[in-house]
Amino acid sequence: MKYVAISEDAVEHLKFPKASLSVAIPVRMDDGTLKIFQGYRVRYDDTRGPTKGGVRYHPNVTLDEVQSMAFWMTFKCAALGLPYGGAKGGIALNPKELSKFELERLSRGYVDAIADFIGPDVDILAPDVYTNAMIMGWMMNQYSIIRRQLSPGVVTGKPLSMGGSLGRETATAMGAFFVIATVMPKLERLPQDTTVAVQGFGNAGGVLAELLFQAGYKVVAVSDSQGAIYSHSGLDIPRIRRSKKLVEGVQAVYCQGSVCSIPDHEVLSNAELLTLGVDLLIPAALENQITSENAAAIQAQYIFEVANGPITSAADEILVARGITVVPDILVNAGGVTVSYFEWVQNRSGLYWTEAEVHQRLQQKMVNETQQIWAIAHEQGISLRTAAYVHALSRLGNAINDKGTRDYYLNS
Ligand code: NAD
Repeated sequence: MKYVAISEDAVEHLKFPKASLSVAIPVRMDDGTLKIFQGYRVRYDDTRGPTKGGVRYHPNVTLDEVQSMAFWMTFKCAALGLPYGGAKGGIALNPKELSKFELERLSRGYVDAIADFIGPDVDILAPDVYTNAMIMGWMMNQYSIIRRQLSPGVVTGKPLSMGGSLGRETATAMGAFFVIATVMPKLERLPQDTTVAVQGFGNAGGVLAELLFQAGYKVVAVSDSQGAIYSHSGLDIPRIRRSKKLVEGVQAVYCQGSVCSIPDHEVLSNAELLTLGVDLLIPAALENQITSENAAAIQAQYIFEVANGPITSAADEILVARGITVVPDILVNAGGVTVSYFEWVQNRSGLYWTEAEVHQRLQQKMVNETQQIWAIAHEQGISLRTAAYVHALSRLGNAINDKGTRDYYLNS
């Protein structure tokens, strides 16, 4: 290993998922027919604690995809120092084609099928693409019915009324904000002198844009699936968020009533937003947005990956070679899994925290891990992405080595 001393045993150990489960989930549809859905759950590694990972409902879900996301979760939990291993789950379907009744039967059926594979001390579920708090509530309830005891700790991201945590909804954006607020002063950037473009105006990107606006950053461009808007003098983000709740789409917001009076605003395409001459670019929508096709045209000096995998590896090499600072997804968007961990801790202790306590603990965690990753990058002269993986791998390697390595057994 080039940047981290890791035993051969640890490398061998991390080559394969600990366990992968494929299940057929029978669902009685509203029209009386029976349909079988293909579901998966993969527990990649549990050396550092019970495995943890989301459940995705998407037509492209395959066992291969779930395995790689479980591997990635293993590193994310290790990078953040959470006492978890990595897992992931999914069902191959288009959730928009199911009624609410069918969706509930499917979600409960999934838990019936994987119940022996999960548990509060074994493997903990969470929301991911096209799964939400209500679905997590159904899953927790179904697991509790099977076990004949209330088991809130088997699922995180639940509704508050079912043991969810305050602050969970804004956790990813808040976590990203704490990372930005830790890194930017190191780069000697002041908020008021820093322009920002945010791709994706949803739960993560929309909330983060508002936090940055409130902290004094000049957010000049935002986008959603319908397009982008730009204002040289800065956008009024709280106003856009309020209006977007009423009108679908950020462009539509700008073409309605008084919001149109904001000077200098322009309508851009999503592709144009990515190559704007801003200081800070925040991809917070989809994977594979910055590729070898557009990496050379990126003008931002700093990129914080809020989305999972928004930069392809070929593009990453181009950006690093151009001296652009990329702060990786496994750190930037880890606020969500961190508050999921807080939810699990609260469920197990029965003591529930205030929102202020959640924010304060999240801040402590995000700032501390960011500082450590920054120090590794600078001591070793490596990118922040490599440093995040080095940080995670050293924790994983130590945990695996503590069970005994070849050197231990042969040289004692
Ligand atoms: P979301 O569905 O709330 O928002 C996604 C936003 O992206 C929407 O505004 C949508 O209109 C926009 N969008 C879709 N296609 C686009 C395109 N081509 N160009 C520009 N914008 C587009 O989702 P979210 O929860 O905000 O998640 C966004 C990203 O952050 C995803 O990659 C997700 O995996 C990642 N993430 C989210 C969380 C979380 O807790 N929400 C945690 C970790 C990672």
